Amino acid sequence: MTVPTEDREALLDRAPSGVAFDGLRVDETDGEFTLETPNDEWTGLDEADLEEALAACEAYVTNWRYWQETVGGVGTARRAFLRWCERAPVADADPEANPPGPWSERGEEAAAEPLAVPERYDALRDGIDRQWGQLCITARFVDVENPDGERVYDLWHVDDADSDLADLEVYDDPRDAREIATYDADGRYRPLKTAPTLPGGWAFTGLSGDDLVETVEFFYPATVANWHRELRGNLDVDHWLETADRQTGIYDVIDELPREAVDWMAEACCVDSQCLRRREWEYEDGDDLDADGGDGPFPCREPCSLVIAAARKWAILESESERTYELELTTSELNQLEDLIDAVAEGQVDEIREADVNDGANRYRARYLRAKRFDEDGGLEATQVDD
Ligand code: SF4
Repeated sequence: MTVPTEDREALLDRAPSGVAFDGLRVDETDGEFTLETPNDEWTGLDEADLEEALAACEAYVTNWRYWQETVGGVGTARRAFLRWCERAPVADADPEANPPGPWSERGEEAAAEPLAVPERYDALRDGIDRQWGQLCITARFVDVENPDGERVYDLWHVDDADSDLADLEVYDDPRDAREIATYDADGRYRPLKTAPTLPGGWAFTGLSGDDLVETVEFFYPATVANWHRELRGNLDVDHWLETADRQTGIYDVIDELPREAVDWMAEACCVDSQCLRRREWEYEDGDDLDADGGDGPFPCREPCSLVIAAARKWAILESESERTYELELTTSELNQLEDLIDAVAEGQVDEIREADVNDGANRYRARYLRAKRFDEDGGLEATQVDD
Protein backbone atom coordinates (compact mmCIF):
# COMPACT_ATOMS: atom_id res chain seq x y z
CA MET A 1 0.00 0.00 0.00
CA THR A 2 1.14 3.56 -0.67
CA VAL A 3 0.11 6.75 0.97
CA PRO A 4 -1.17 9.37 -1.53
CA THR A 5 1.57 11.88 -2.36
CA GLU A 6 -0.46 14.90 -1.18
CA ASP A 7 -1.12 13.24 2.17
CA ARG A 8 2.57 12.47 2.66
CA GLU A 9 3.57 16.02 1.72
CA ALA A 10 0.93 17.49 4.04
CA LEU A 11 2.29 15.38 6.90
CA LEU A 12 5.89 16.39 6.18
CA ASP A 13 4.82 20.03 6.21
CA ARG A 14 3.28 19.68 9.65
CA ALA A 15 5.79 17.30 11.21
CA PRO A 16 8.11 20.07 12.58
CA SER A 17 5.27 21.37 14.75
CA GLY A 18 4.10 17.83 15.56
CA VAL A 19 1.08 15.81 14.43
CA ALA A 20 -1.08 13.99 16.98
CA PHE A 21 -4.48 12.79 15.86
CA ASP A 22 -6.66 9.68 16.33
CA GLY A 23 -3.64 7.59 17.43
CA LEU A 24 -1.19 8.90 14.79
CA ARG A 25 1.89 10.84 15.95
CA VAL A 26 4.55 12.33 13.68
CA ASP A 27 7.37 14.54 14.95
CA GLU A 28 10.54 15.92 13.43
CA THR A 29 13.70 16.97 15.25
CA ASP A 30 16.78 18.11 13.33
CA GLY A 31 15.66 16.30 10.14
CA GLU A 32 14.90 13.03 11.94
CA PHE A 33 11.33 11.82 12.06
CA THR A 34 9.45 9.81 14.64
CA LEU A 35 6.27 7.97 13.63
CA GLU A 36 3.93 6.32 16.10
CA THR A 37 0.56 4.53 16.07
CA PRO A 38 -1.08 2.67 18.98
CA ASN A 39 0.66 -0.56 17.87
CA ASP A 40 3.95 0.57 16.27
CA GLU A 41 6.74 3.07 16.66
CA TRP A 42 9.50 4.12 14.25
CA THR A 43 12.33 6.45 15.30
CA GLY A 44 15.33 8.09 13.66
CA LEU A 45 13.75 8.12 10.18
CA ASP A 46 14.89 10.16 7.22
CA GLU A 47 12.33 11.18 4.59
CA ALA A 48 12.73 7.96 2.58
CA ASP A 49 12.37 5.82 5.73
CA LEU A 50 9.34 7.83 6.76
CA GLU A 51 7.65 7.25 3.40
CA GLU A 52 8.19 3.52 3.79
CA ALA A 53 6.92 3.51 7.36
CA LEU A 54 3.86 5.58 6.46
CA ALA A 55 2.83 2.87 3.99
CA ALA A 56 2.43 0.54 6.98
CA CYS A 57 -0.11 2.85 8.60
CA GLU A 58 -1.96 4.18 5.59
CA ALA A 59 -5.36 4.22 7.33
CA TYR A 60 -4.06 6.54 10.06
CA VAL A 61 -2.61 8.90 7.48
CA THR A 62 -5.65 9.14 5.18
CA ASN A 63 -7.86 9.43 8.28
CA TRP A 64 -5.76 12.35 9.52
CA ARG A 65 -5.95 14.05 6.13
CA TYR A 66 -9.74 13.62 5.87
CA TRP A 67 -10.42 15.17 9.26
CA GLN A 68 -7.77 17.86 9.25
CA GLU A 69 -7.92 18.91 5.60
CA THR A 70 -11.32 17.94 4.17
CA VAL A 71 -13.52 18.44 7.25
CA GLY A 72 -11.48 20.92 9.30
CA GLY A 73 -13.44 23.12 11.70
CA VAL A 74 -11.87 21.86 14.92
CA GLY A 75 -14.22 22.58 17.82
CA THR A 76 -17.32 23.09 15.65
CA ALA A 77 -20.66 21.32 15.98
CA ARG A 78 -20.43 20.25 12.35
CA ARG A 79 -17.16 18.40 12.88
CA ALA A 80 -18.32 16.81 16.15
CA PHE A 81 -21.50 15.58 14.51
CA LEU A 82 -19.62 14.04 11.57
CA ARG A 83 -17.31 12.34 14.08
CA TRP A 84 -20.36 10.98 15.91
CA CYS A 85 -21.73 9.69 12.59
CA GLU A 86 -18.81 7.30 12.19
CA ARG A 87 -18.37 6.55 15.90
CA ALA A 88 -15.09 8.43 16.16
CA PRO A 89 -14.16 9.94 19.52
CA VAL A 90 -15.48 13.49 19.82
CA ALA A 91 -12.45 15.22 21.27
CA ASP A 92 -14.28 18.15 22.82
CA ALA A 93 -16.88 16.09 24.70
CA ASP A 94 -17.06 17.03 28.35
CA PRO A 95 -17.05 13.80 30.42
CA GLU A 96 -18.71 15.70 33.26
CA ALA A 97 -21.52 16.99 31.05
CA ASN A 98 -25.04 15.83 31.77
CA PRO A 99 -25.76 13.75 29.76
CA PRO A 100 -22.15 12.61 29.29
CA GLY A 101 -21.97 12.79 25.53
CA PRO A 102 -23.28 10.60 22.74
CA TRP A 103 -21.99 7.35 24.21
CA SER A 104 -23.89 7.66 27.44
CA GLU A 105 -26.22 4.99 28.74
CA ARG A 106 -28.95 6.59 26.68
CA GLY A 107 -31.12 4.17 24.73
CA GLU A 108 -29.54 2.27 21.88
CA GLU A 109 -26.53 4.60 21.82
CA ALA A 110 -25.23 2.71 24.85
CA ALA A 111 -23.84 0.00 22.58
CA ALA A 112 -22.14 2.44 20.22
CA GLU A 113 -18.70 2.89 21.81
CA PRO A 114 -16.15 4.94 19.83
CA LEU A 115 -14.09 2.95 17.33
CA ALA A 116 -10.32 3.16 16.81
CA VAL A 117 -9.09 3.90 13.29
CA PRO A 118 -8.56 0.28 12.05
CA GLU A 119 -12.02 -0.84 13.27
CA ARG A 120 -13.61 2.32 11.90
CA TYR A 121 -12.00 1.76 8.50
CA ASP A 122 -13.35 -1.80 8.41
CA ALA A 123 -16.82 -0.55 9.35
CA LEU A 124 -16.76 2.33 6.85
CA ARG A 125 -16.33 -0.15 4.00
CA ASP A 126 -19.81 -1.53 4.80
CA GLY A 127 -21.17 1.76 6.08
CA ILE A 128 -21.73 2.87 9.69
CA ASP A 129 -25.38 3.56 10.59
CA ARG A 130 -26.48 6.03 13.25
CA GLN A 131 -29.97 7.12 14.21
CA TRP A 132 -30.88 10.76 14.77
CA GLY A 133 -34.56 11.01 15.63
CA GLN A 134 -36.33 9.37 12.71
CA LEU A 135 -33.29 9.81 10.47
CA CYS A 136 -30.94 6.96 9.63
CA ILE A 137 -27.48 8.23 8.65
CA THR A 138 -24.87 6.04 6.96
CA ALA A 139 -21.22 7.12 6.79
CA ARG A 140 -19.17 5.23 4.19
CA PHE A 141 -16.09 5.47 2.00
CA VAL A 142 -16.44 6.98 -1.46
CA ASP A 143 -14.16 4.27 -2.84
CA VAL A 144 -14.82 1.05 -0.96
CA GLU A 145 -12.26 -1.03 -2.86
CA ASN A 146 -9.39 1.39 -2.43
CA PRO A 147 -10.33 3.86 0.30
CA ASP A 148 -8.36 7.10 0.29
CA GLY A 149 -10.08 8.35 3.42
CA GLU A 150 -12.83 10.37 1.68
CA ARG A 151 -16.27 9.76 3.20
CA VAL A 152 -19.79 10.38 1.93
CA TYR A 153 -23.07 10.18 3.80
CA ASP A 154 -26.50 8.74 3.03
CA LEU A 155 -29.68 9.69 4.83
CA TRP A 156 -33.16 8.21 4.91
CA HIS A 157 -36.11 7.57 7.17
CA VAL A 158 -35.48 4.83 9.76
CA ASP A 159 -38.57 3.00 8.54
CA ASP A 160 -36.97 2.78 5.07
CA ALA A 161 -33.66 1.35 6.29
CA ASP A 162 -34.42 -1.99 4.63
CA SER A 163 -36.00 -0.51 1.49
CA ASP A 164 -34.52 -0.81 -1.96
CA LEU A 165 -33.11 2.54 -3.11
CA ALA A 166 -35.03 2.10 -6.36
CA ASP A 167 -38.27 2.31 -4.36
CA LEU A 168 -37.35 5.66 -2.79
CA GLU A 169 -37.34 9.21 -4.17
CA VAL A 170 -33.66 10.15 -4.28
CA TYR A 171 -32.45 13.72 -3.54
CA ASP A 172 -29.08 15.40 -3.26
CA ASP A 173 -29.99 19.02 -2.48
CA PRO A 174 -30.25 19.68 1.29
CA ARG A 175 -33.00 22.27 0.72
CA ASP A 176 -35.34 19.49 -0.45
CA ALA A 177 -35.44 18.26 3.16
CA ARG A 178 -37.40 21.36 4.17
CA GLU A 179 -40.26 20.40 1.87
CA ILE A 180 -40.21 16.72 2.87
CA ALA A 181 -40.46 17.75 6.53
CA THR A 182 -43.42 20.10 5.99
CA TYR A 183 -46.25 17.53 5.87
CA ASP A 184 -46.84 14.12 7.43
CA ALA A 185 -47.70 10.93 5.53
CA ASP A 186 -51.39 11.96 5.49
CA GLY A 187 -50.59 15.39 4.06
CA ARG A 188 -51.18 17.25 7.33
CA TYR A 189 -48.95 20.24 8.16
CA ARG A 190 -46.30 19.44 10.79
CA PRO A 191 -46.08 22.47 13.12
CA LEU A 192 -43.44 20.72 15.24
CA LYS A 193 -40.48 19.59 13.15
CA THR A 194 -39.31 17.18 15.85
CA ALA A 195 -42.67 15.38 16.13
CA PRO A 196 -42.25 11.67 15.28
CA THR A 197 -44.40 12.10 12.17
CA LEU A 198 -41.74 12.52 9.50
CA PRO A 199 -42.94 10.76 6.34
CA GLY A 200 -40.72 8.18 4.62
CA GLY A 201 -40.17 7.21 0.99
CA TRP A 202 -37.11 9.39 0.26
CA ALA A 203 -33.32 9.16 0.43
CA PHE A 204 -30.36 11.54 0.19
CA THR A 205 -27.28 9.77 -1.10
CA GLY A 206 -23.61 10.59 -1.52
CA LEU A 207 -23.75 13.81 0.52
CA SER A 208 -20.59 15.64 1.57
CA GLY A 209 -20.18 16.22 5.30
CA ASP A 210 -21.29 19.87 4.96
CA ASP A 211 -24.38 18.88 2.99
CA LEU A 212 -25.26 16.13 5.46
CA VAL A 213 -25.25 18.56 8.39
CA GLU A 214 -27.26 21.10 6.40
CA THR A 215 -29.84 18.43 5.46
CA VAL A 216 -30.18 17.23 9.06
CA GLU A 217 -30.71 20.82 10.17
CA PHE A 218 -33.50 21.28 7.63
CA PHE A 219 -35.22 18.20 9.07
CA TYR A 220 -34.53 19.02 12.72
CA PRO A 221 -33.52 22.69 13.15
CA ALA A 222 -30.85 23.53 15.73
CA THR A 223 -30.54 19.93 16.94
CA VAL A 224 -26.87 19.55 15.97
CA ALA A 225 -25.87 22.85 17.60
CA ASN A 226 -27.76 22.08 20.83
CA TRP A 227 -26.44 18.52 20.96
CA HIS A 228 -22.92 19.92 20.63
CA ARG A 229 -23.51 22.53 23.34
CA GLU A 230 -24.72 19.79 25.66
CA LEU A 231 -21.74 17.63 24.74
CA ARG A 232 -19.40 20.43 25.81
CA GLY A 233 -21.38 20.97 28.98
CA ASN A 234 -22.60 24.46 28.03
CA LEU A 235 -26.22 23.99 26.97
CA ASP A 236 -27.96 27.16 28.12
CA VAL A 237 -31.39 26.04 29.35
CA ASP A 238 -34.29 28.47 29.72
CA HIS A 239 -36.76 26.99 32.20
CA TRP A 240 -40.52 27.47 32.09
CA LEU A 241 -40.83 30.42 34.47
CA GLU A 242 -38.14 32.54 32.84
CA THR A 243 -39.56 31.77 29.38
CA ALA A 244 -43.12 32.52 30.50
CA ASP A 245 -42.10 35.74 32.27
CA ARG A 246 -40.59 37.27 29.17
CA GLN A 247 -43.67 36.72 26.97
CA THR A 248 -45.59 39.78 25.83
CA GLY A 249 -48.79 40.51 23.90
CA ILE A 250 -51.30 37.68 23.68
CA TYR A 251 -48.84 35.27 25.34
CA ASP A 252 -48.42 37.46 28.39
CA VAL A 253 -50.95 35.25 30.24
CA ILE A 254 -48.94 32.04 30.17
CA ASP A 255 -47.06 32.85 33.36
CA GLU A 256 -50.43 32.46 35.13
CA LEU A 257 -50.51 28.75 34.31
CA PRO A 258 -50.53 26.89 37.67
CA ARG A 259 -47.43 24.88 38.58
CA GLU A 260 -49.26 21.52 38.29
CA ALA A 261 -50.69 22.51 34.88
CA VAL A 262 -47.12 22.98 33.56
CA ASP A 263 -46.50 19.36 34.51
CA TRP A 264 -49.63 18.24 32.68
CA MET A 265 -48.57 20.31 29.68
CA ALA A 266 -45.10 18.71 29.57
CA GLU A 267 -46.74 15.27 29.82
CA ALA A 268 -49.09 16.18 26.98
CA CYS A 269 -46.55 17.67 24.57
CA CYS A 270 -42.95 16.78 25.41
CA VAL A 271 -42.85 12.99 25.83
CA ASP A 272 -41.15 10.79 23.23
CA SER A 273 -44.45 9.80 21.60
CA GLN A 274 -45.07 13.47 20.73
CA CYS A 275 -41.61 15.01 20.32
CA LEU A 276 -38.16 13.56 19.71
CA ARG A 277 -36.33 16.30 21.56
CA ARG A 278 -35.33 15.42 25.11
CA ARG A 279 -36.81 18.10 27.38
CA GLU A 280 -34.08 19.59 29.53
CA TRP A 281 -36.06 22.60 30.76
CA GLU A 282 -37.91 22.32 34.06
CA TYR A 283 -40.38 24.51 35.92
CA GLU A 284 -37.46 26.56 37.22
CA ASP A 285 -33.91 25.92 38.25
CA GLY A 286 -34.06 23.49 41.18
CA ASP A 287 -37.76 22.67 40.69
CA ASP A 288 -38.07 19.72 38.30
CA LEU A 289 -41.26 18.66 36.60
CA ASP A 290 -42.56 15.14 37.26
CA ALA A 291 -43.22 14.46 33.55
CA ASP A 292 -40.64 12.32 31.76
CA GLY A 293 -38.27 14.40 29.62
CA GLY A 294 -37.77 11.63 27.06
CA ASP A 295 -34.74 9.76 25.70
CA GLY A 296 -34.02 11.57 22.43
CA PRO A 297 -30.38 12.11 21.37
CA PHE A 298 -30.81 15.88 21.03
CA PRO A 299 -31.91 18.17 23.86
CA CYS A 300 -34.68 20.76 24.07
CA ARG A 301 -33.32 23.85 25.79
CA GLU A 302 -36.51 25.92 26.14
CA PRO A 303 -40.30 25.65 25.66
CA CYS A 304 -40.98 25.82 21.91
CA SER A 305 -43.50 28.01 20.09
CA LEU A 306 -46.00 25.16 19.86
CA VAL A 307 -45.94 24.69 23.64
CA ILE A 308 -46.15 28.46 24.20
CA ALA A 309 -49.23 28.67 21.95
CA ALA A 310 -50.89 25.69 23.68
CA ALA A 311 -49.98 27.12 27.11
CA ARG A 312 -51.92 30.28 26.28
CA LYS A 313 -55.04 28.18 25.71
CA TRP A 314 -54.52 26.21 28.91
CA ALA A 315 -53.84 29.38 30.92
CA ILE A 316 -57.22 30.72 29.80
CA LEU A 317 -58.99 27.40 30.48
CA GLU A 318 -57.36 27.00 33.89
CA SER A 319 -58.63 30.44 34.93
CA GLU A 320 -62.15 28.99 35.08
CA SER A 321 -63.46 27.82 38.45
CA GLU A 322 -64.27 24.15 38.91
CA ARG A 323 -67.95 23.22 39.29
CA THR A 324 -69.75 20.08 40.39
CA TYR A 325 -72.13 18.53 37.92
CA GLU A 326 -74.53 15.64 38.16
CA LEU A 327 -75.14 13.47 35.13
CA GLU A 328 -76.39 9.93 34.74
CA LEU A 329 -74.09 7.34 33.20
CA THR A 330 -73.83 3.58 33.47
CA THR A 331 -70.46 2.24 34.61
CA SER A 332 -69.76 1.13 31.03
CA GLU A 333 -70.54 4.60 29.75
CA LEU A 334 -68.12 6.14 32.25
CA ASN A 335 -65.47 3.66 31.07
CA GLN A 336 -66.32 4.59 27.51
CA LEU A 337 -65.58 8.27 28.16
CA GLU A 338 -62.14 7.21 29.38
CA ASP A 339 -61.63 5.10 26.24
CA LEU A 340 -62.61 8.06 24.06
CA ILE A 341 -60.19 10.44 25.76
CA ASP A 342 -57.37 7.88 25.60
CA ALA A 343 -57.96 7.14 21.91
CA VAL A 344 -57.90 10.84 20.95
CA ALA A 345 -54.88 11.59 23.17
CA GLU A 346 -52.87 8.73 21.66
CA GLY A 347 -53.95 9.50 18.08
CA GLN A 348 -55.52 6.04 17.74
CA VAL A 349 -58.97 7.04 16.52
CA ASP A 350 -58.21 6.13 12.89
CA GLU A 351 -56.97 2.68 13.94
CA ILE A 352 -60.26 1.59 15.54
CA ARG A 353 -62.20 -0.57 13.12
CA GLU A 354 -65.84 0.25 12.48
CA ALA A 355 -66.76 -3.37 13.29
CA ASP A 356 -64.96 -3.34 16.65
CA VAL A 357 -67.88 -2.31 18.87
CA ASN A 358 -66.04 -3.71 21.91
CA ASP A 359 -63.79 -0.63 21.80
CA GLY A 360 -65.34 2.27 23.70
CA ALA A 361 -63.85 4.72 21.15
CA ASN A 362 -65.51 2.91 18.23
CA ARG A 363 -67.37 5.43 16.08
CA TYR A 364 -70.73 3.68 16.38
CA ARG A 365 -70.32 3.39 20.15
CA ALA A 366 -69.56 7.12 20.32
CA ARG A 367 -72.53 8.02 18.13
CA TYR A 368 -74.80 5.78 20.24
CA LEU A 369 -73.65 7.49 23.45
CA ARG A 370 -74.25 10.90 21.92
CA ALA A 371 -77.73 9.88 20.76
CA LYS A 372 -78.54 8.59 24.25
CA ARG A 373 -76.94 11.20 26.54
CA PHE A 374 -76.94 14.51 24.65
CA ASP A 375 -79.89 16.80 25.02
CA GLU A 376 -81.61 18.70 22.21
CA ASP A 377 -79.01 21.53 22.49
CA GLY A 378 -76.30 19.07 21.51
CA GLY A 379 -74.57 18.77 24.92
CA LEU A 380 -74.39 16.27 27.77
CA GLU A 381 -77.47 16.23 30.00
CA ALA A 382 -75.76 17.45 33.14
CA THR A 383 -76.97 19.57 36.05
CA GLN A 384 -74.73 21.91 38.03
CA VAL A 385 -75.25 21.07 41.71
CA ASP A 386 -73.04 23.68 43.42
CA ASP A 387 -73.63 27.46 43.51
S1 SF4 B 1 -40.95 22.21 24.29
FE1 SF4 B 1 -41.56 20.07 24.32
S2 SF4 B 1 -42.71 19.77 22.41
FE2 SF4 B 1 -41.52 21.67 22.20
S3 SF4 B 1 -39.59 21.04 21.20
FE3 SF4 B 1 -39.26 21.01 23.42
S4 SF4 B 1 -39.65 18.88 24.07
FE4 SF4 B 1 -40.55 19.19 22.02
